[in-house]
Parts: sequence; C-alpha cells; structure tokens
Amino acid sequence: MNERDSEAVGATFIKAGHTLCNIEEDADVLLFNTCSVRDAAERKAKGKIGYMRKLKLRKPQLIIGVMGCMAQRLGEKLLDELPHLDFVLGTGQIHKALETVEKIAAERSRFHDTAICPEEIDMLGAHGENSWSAQIAITRGCNRFCSYCIVPYVRGREVSRSLDSIISEAKMLVASGVKEILLLGQNVAAYGLNGDIRPPADGHSPFAELLEALNEISGLERIRYTSPYVSYFNDRLIGALAHCSKVCHNIHLPLQSGSDRILQAMNRQYTAQSYREKVAQLRDAIPDLTFSTDVIVGFPGEEESDFQLTRDLMNEVGFEQAFIFKYSPRPGAKSALLSDTVSEEEKLRRNNILLDDLQLRISRKLAALNGSIQEVLCEGVSTRNKSRWTGRTGTNFVVHFEPDAAVKTGDLRKVRITRSGNVSLFGELC
Ligand code: SAH
Ligand code: SF4
Repeated sequence: MNERDSEAVGATFIKAGHTLCNIEEDADVLLFNTCSVRDAAERKAKGKIGYMRKLKLRKPQLIIGVMGCMAQRLGEKLLDELPHLDFVLGTGQIHKALETVEKIAAERSRFHDTAICPEEIDMLGAHGENSWSAQIAITRGCNRFCSYCIVPYVRGREVSRSLDSIISEAKMLVASGVKEILLLGQNVAAYGLNGDIRPPADGHSPFAELLEALNEISGLERIRYTSPYVSYFNDRLIGALAHCSKVCHNIHLPLQSGSDRILQAMNRQYTAQSYREKVAQLRDAIPDLTFSTDVIVGFPGEEESDFQLTRDLMNEVGFEQAFIFKYSPRPGAKSALLSDTVSEEEKLRRNNILLDDLQLRISRKLAALNGSIQEVLCEGVSTRNKSRWTGRTGTNFVVHFEPDAAVKTGDLRKVRITRSGNVSLFGELC
C-alpha cells in the first residue's frame, strides 16, 4: 500500500513538471513514506531521516517531509524530534504533498497535518510510468482492529472506491500497456461492504463483482489481489475466483496463528479449523491454487504448545510462501496493554524454525514442478544473470529462462521447467 501511495505522490510531482531522482544528494525535496506496523520499521525510518541532517546542513534549501503511517502516529512530535524536518503529512493528507512542498518553498515555514480524510482521495488514480504491471488501491483503512495492529489507528476507517472509478483506472492502465493488475487493500475481500465487519452473506460479494468486471477488460492478462481476510471467502467469491480466467491462482491468506487461544487474543475472528476448511474449499474449486501467508510469532502469552499448533497448521496447509513476523507491541493497539511475555531470543528461535520449514517445503514444491510446462508473464532481464530473463507463473513461482529474439516484457509465454533451485525455477521457452 505504501509503495502504491509513493507512486501516486511521485506522479503528482511529475505532472507538475518535477522530475524524480534516485540519488538523495541530487534532490531538492526528500519525501519519506513511512510504515508503523512494527517498531523496527519506525526505527529504521527515523534513522534514515536523522541521517539526512548532514545533507540539509550542506544544502539549507533542501525540503524534507515525512508521510504515511509513522507520520500519522507521531504527527507534530516528529517535528520536535527531528529539527531538520520541514513537514509531516498523515495518511489522509498525502494528496497534499505537492502543495505543501510549494508552500514551504515559498514561506520556509514548518508544517504538519494528520487529519484523517474520510473521503476517497482523488489522487489515488495517479500513476507513474507503468510497465507491464500496476497496482490499484481499491480500499483504504481497516475496520477489523486485530489487537496487535496499528493500521486501523493510522489509516482510519475502511473506505471502498466505486467500481466505476476502479474499472476506468484499470482500462486507462491497460491502454498504456499494463498486462497485470494488483488490487490492494487491508482486506480486499471486504471491498464494497460499506465498512460492515461481518463477512458477507452467502451469494453476496461486491469483491467478486469487481473481479468479474476486471476480467472482462480486453488486453488485461492477469489480476492479483492482496490481502483478503479468510472469513470473507463465501461461495460467491470462490465461484468468481474459479471462473475468472485472468484471476491468478495464488492467494495471500494471512493466518497469524494456528492456536485458537492466540487467534482469539488477537481478535482474529476465525479458528484454526475454519481456516483449514476454507483452504480445503478453495482447493476444491481451484486445484492448482498456491497460498502464502503472514504469521506472528511470540504474541503475548504464546506458549510452546501454541507455537507448535501454528507450525503444524503451516505444514498441513503447505504454504508456498510465508512472511513471519516477531511480535512487536505497538503503542495504541490493544495488545500493547498485555505484557510482552516471549523473549526476543525465543521469538527469533520460533521465527527461524518456521523459516526453515518454509525453505524445505518450497524446495520440495519447486522440485515437483520439474518437467512441467508453465505459463509465465515475462518481466524482463534477470537481475542475477543478465543472459537470462525472469517471469512469474500465475501461481506466483519465479521462473528464469533463456530469452529468444521475440520475447518482450509483458508477454505471456510457455516455459518448460528443466531445473529447480531453492527459491525459483529454471526453464526454456517452448
Ligand atoms: N491487512 C493485512 C495486514 C497488514 S499488516 C491483513 O490483515 O492481512 C501486515 C502483517 O504485519 C500482518 O499480517 C501481521 O502478520 C504483521 N503485523 C501487524 N502488526 C504486527 C505487530 N504488532 N507485530 C508483528 N507483526 C505485525
Ligand atoms: Fe491490521 Fe487486522 Fe486490519 Fe489487517 S485486518 S490491517 S492485521 S487490523
């Protein structure tokens, strides 16, 4: 989501005649878009912004701004903490980045605004130079209030964009050459439910309607989405995932824990069994579906037995990818009131066990694809080996292959898999 916001802010600057630059020393304006989900992200951002003080001493006209979740959470305090900072814009005000920079350039004043903006931000449709893939934010904010999570506090209440505005944005992107669209939201499957946190009744899913409408856009090849909350997959949505040919067969389905006791303390409104059943239902409808997930280790009160339940469920589901996070108390979120009972050392141990399991599983899954023919969306020259190209299967495996003279970025091509590595596949164009 932050990446998408940064792109949109960048696009408004380009439209106003500015240019983006990659080297901090060359910039007249430095904008930091920040995350607050874990303490480590905030510490890293503050470290980086703090480091820019030297640059500002050498170049007093430099304008430095902070946007995003940390800006929202800390607001004016950031201006006190970082005297070389010019402005702070919260998550609901990022559409004002350009006018804020212009105002500061004219007045040399300091500024902060963290008002939550409940309306759809107009700028959301602004895109940079898209190649074959683009992101579209379909919802903002979150109403779920998982007890560990700062997002509802820093991004505000859940708001869905209108179907028409998303479809016209997608058509505009496809007309400019985009082949793959990634739909973004804290819970994309709650799209169009007007902030109601109850999962939709059977037969009703505005997110399914959106996928079906996108699936009709000619020239668009692939539709991905992240992240959906497991309880929102009803028959209507599962049916749409199965019959929309452009919707990729990969779901990022955050689990967080395999222990019902911990899930309840996290205010995740599902059980390990209901998660398991949903995965089975999805696999029934789409047999080659792959899954990735998010898991938190060391939530307050997580015992070894809870951790084992998580480990067992992860192995049972057989996630092809997983992001494991060590619990980090976030001031303001409910769980911050609980004592952080699991030591950092123990969190790291649990984290590493899950990562080792994952690596073993991925190697096996990749090896099983040896000899198969996969359709890949060609992304361009491989970063590791310039003589190869990289592509991705709809199931989200990375494939490296020898290019032929005809291959172009954004092409869908068939590749015969000849070898598997630890994290990716190797093959030849058919
Ligand atoms: N809306 C998404 C999650 C966004 S945050 C969803 O519900 O799927 C991304 C991930 O960060 C979460 O899934 C969770 O695993 C992790 N996370 C959030 N808060 C955290 C915290 N306080 N400590 C550690 N990990 C956290
Ligand atoms: Fe955070 Fe839960 Fe909302 Fe995801 S669903 S953003 S984890 S509160």
